[in-house]
Amino acid sequence: MALWAMDGGTSPGMQDYIATEARFGARNYAPVPVVVERALDCLVWDVQGREYIDMMSAYSAVSHGHLHPRVVAAAQRQLQKVAVTSRAYYGTTLGPFLEKLCQLTGFERALPMNTGAEAVETAIKCARRWGHRIKGVADGRQQILVARGNFHGRTSTIVGFSSEPSYRSGFGPFDGGFGHFDFGDLESLKAAASDSTCAVLIEPIQGEAGVILPPPGFFPALRAWCTEHRVLLIDDEVQAGLGRTGKWFALEHEGIRPDALILGKALGAGLLPVSALCADAAVMDVFTPNSHGSTFGGNALAAAVALEGLKVLEEEGLVERSAELGAYLIARLRQVQAEVRPLIREVRGRGLWVGVDIAPSCTSARELVERLAAGGVLSKETHETVIRFAPPLTISYALVDRAVEVFRQVAMQKHRELGLALPA
Ligand SMILES: *Cc1c(COP(=O)(O)O)cnc(C)c1O
Repeated sequence: MALWAMDGGTSPGMQDYIATEARFGARNYAPVPVVVERALDCLVWDVQGREYIDMMSAYSAVSHGHLHPRVVAAAQRQLQKVAVTSRAYYGTTLGPFLEKLCQLTGFERALPMNTGAEAVETAIKCARRWGHRIKGVADGRQQILVARGNFHGRTSTIVGFSSEPSYRSGFGPFDGGFGHFDFGDLESLKAAASDSTCAVLIEPIQGEAGVILPPPGFFPALRAWCTEHRVLLIDDEVQAGLGRTGKWFALEHEGIRPDALILGKALGAGLLPVSALCADAAVMDVFTPNSHGSTFGGNALAAAVALEGLKVLEEEGLVERSAELGAYLIARLRQVQAEVRPLIREVRGRGLWVGVDIAPSCTSARELVERLAAGGVLSKETHETVIRFAPPLTISYALVDRAVEVFRQVAMQKHRELGLALPA
């Protein structure tokens, strides 16, 4: 029974929910103190009925907006039929979902999993088996190159090649088989490579690292190097993909095509965890029956939801909308930046995915995130200095304006507190 039932059954307040989570939950998160009760599209309401604009959208998992009516309807229809059977049998929704995913990504095959980390693990296994069986690297010697500052999820293999101490500390021993290079620096990648290199696993834009864009020309040069050395280029678009950057896939901005693509987050259309590895048969067919799987991966309900989610992105023009509204959001935030120099060092991003880099000598990103929440705008810091804005792709100009105005007030207030001179 919930704790609050003990105080005479009065309806629980915000502090009760926070206390119950903190008392019974593992302490692996430090949430912003907002207790969400319900949400619709780009708006969220807390237990006291206060309204917030969701400028975070669950790290892109809610790119369609909360509870998109078409996605909810597709889920409800499927819930009248069957939800989970495991992959021991065929179903009526998985095939159409995979067909749509292949059509949109341009790859021949897709392998469905649930979380992003599982799809990354799938890619690692795929790359290693390809490295051994196709490229001829001795089994157990296959090397995968990853960028410093990467974020690919939280399994023990994945955190083993993170360069973030708080993600790895105390969780070893780690697998091995990974080499590191500096994001955006092909020379450092070449120095880390060997004859055993079978893949480069990379985010097109480093999200958790602070929305770090690649230098122009890096990805085309990487593509050429991978092709020349028979190394798979594996593109982790768990966060960047499906319209977030204003194109379907972020590597389209670089004009190149990877050998394998990892999707997650928005693939579940804001309802369920759905992820996938996409690749052509020459790569994907290293998987044979019994070599890989997932009990829930590609379940009937998830496939129905994900298929509808892809159709919604396409038919509602949400990718184009992300490009348009994203350019507007970045321009508006840069206007605020000009008003509060030197509080904001940089505003950077692509599509509706923006990092606002706060000068650490002024304040922490976290403090501003909490003030934004108090003002009715949900965002999230990454590391100490970057505020991330990534609203649902369905957001309107009016809501962007409202959110930016709250941000402007918060930034001006901080600016005044610091006694910084306002520009003339
Ligand atoms: C979130 C994320 C993951 C991990 O996804 P989970 O669903 O949390 O396991 C992997 N790669 C990138 C780039 C991500 O942003």
